[in-house]
Amino acid sequence: MENKSLKYFLIMAGSTNHMLRGEKLLRETGIETALVPAPSEYGSVCAIAIRVSETVIQEAKDILTQYNISLSGIYEDIPKKLSGLLERISNQIISEDFLSVLSKVEDGRDLTYDDIVLLISSEKRAELDALYTAADRMRQEVIGDVVDIRGAIEFSNICRKDCNYCGIRNSHPSLERYRMSEDEICEVVHQLHSMGLQTVILQSGEDLWWTPDKIVHLIRRVKKETNMKITLSIGERSREEYALYKEEGANNFLLKIETTNRDIFKNIHPDDDYDHRVQCSNWLKELGYLNGSGSIIGLPGQKVGDIAKDILYFKEMGINMIGIGPFLPAKGTPYEFLPPGNVEMTLKAVAVTRLVCKRVFIPATTALASIDPDGQTKALKVGANTIMLISTPDRYRCNYQIYSDKNMIDLDSALTAVREAERKLPPYLKKDMR
Ligand code: SF4
Repeated sequence: MENKSLKYFLIMAGSTNHMLRGEKLLRETGIETALVPAPSEYGSVCAIAIRVSETVIQEAKDILTQYNISLSGIYEDIPKKLSGLLERISNQIISEDFLSVLSKVEDGRDLTYDDIVLLISSEKRAELDALYTAADRMRQEVIGDVVDIRGAIEFSNICRKDCNYCGIRNSHPSLERYRMSEDEICEVVHQLHSMGLQTVILQSGEDLWWTPDKIVHLIRRVKKETNMKITLSIGERSREEYALYKEEGANNFLLKIETTNRDIFKNIHPDDDYDHRVQCSNWLKELGYLNGSGSIIGLPGQKVGDIAKDILYFKEMGINMIGIGPFLPAKGTPYEFLPPGNVEMTLKAVAVTRLVCKRVFIPATTALASIDPDGQTKALKVGANTIMLISTPDRYRCNYQIYSDKNMIDLDSALTAVREAERKLPPYLKKDMR
């Protein structure tokens, strides 16, 4: 938990390996660390920095020097101000209250629950344009113009759970189940690697056939053959399992909370306990993962205040990757006939999340692209900075539909979104892929 009266520093290591080793060393000596995306002015594309408080910065420096961790710089993490923001916004058609919240953003002050509710509640075009301008500017200042592109392999659609919104839930009446072999997964990993991508997301239902031994084997093989960064998204596991995967080289973990409203959480997740989900997320953070979470906009019973609380939760938990998508009803589930979430509300949540959480990865989600063909471009224009390619082989992907009519984001559609949003492609993407 952040202490607002302290200064914080960002430690930039000379390489990703040094950063990961350094961060582990610091944690092992009891220093509280957080991994955060590096500011664009200090790091290479989507580099990660180690964030520590002023009370331990000297000790941290000494330890890193003692263990020969190469450092490229240490910078004070100064709250980002957006000077001149209000000058760019026409004051006449924006309410005083709305302007006063934006002036807090301009001054680098934290937003309260009431501020967030006010921003998300607005439906006036001029105010929304001002909000999106602010979020886009914040994204540019804290993380730069490059869009990070990652590849996701949905390697098993078998799940022990029955989340009511999910199209691969255990009691789905007609879904054809599949489980990719390790060789099949690695074949796709190599394709992503040959495109130049640096991160692969290994995602599945909670499929316990994938035992810790099998997952470790897979992690080792991906690391040995490609050295790609690995994001795991395999659901709730024990702390020991999470620790094991981290030890073996997994870098990031994605475990969404979906909503911080306990009643809605219980309704949508009949098998899950809210406190345990939060506990899992805390374990992941303690273990040094780049910690992913996210929310669904438009869940039954959800209010604007719930969305505001979700955003504050991401900030307070120090979440690094935040996926926000609209609720989309999936065929064969209890929620099949509910109305979908709203695109504009989702964009507002993305924008405010950027303003509140600042230096985080925010994907332009597949769910947004599924409900609106321009959804990813729109998200990139209001604070998002990452796109996830759906890289599951054709023969399987139609059976991994968490929601129906899922848009299968491929490289071409990602490139289109990046260009339409007038953003930059990552330099690691091979030239013949552009
Ligand atoms: S949301 Fe995740 S845990 Fe829930 S049923 Fe779907 S795959 Fe399983």
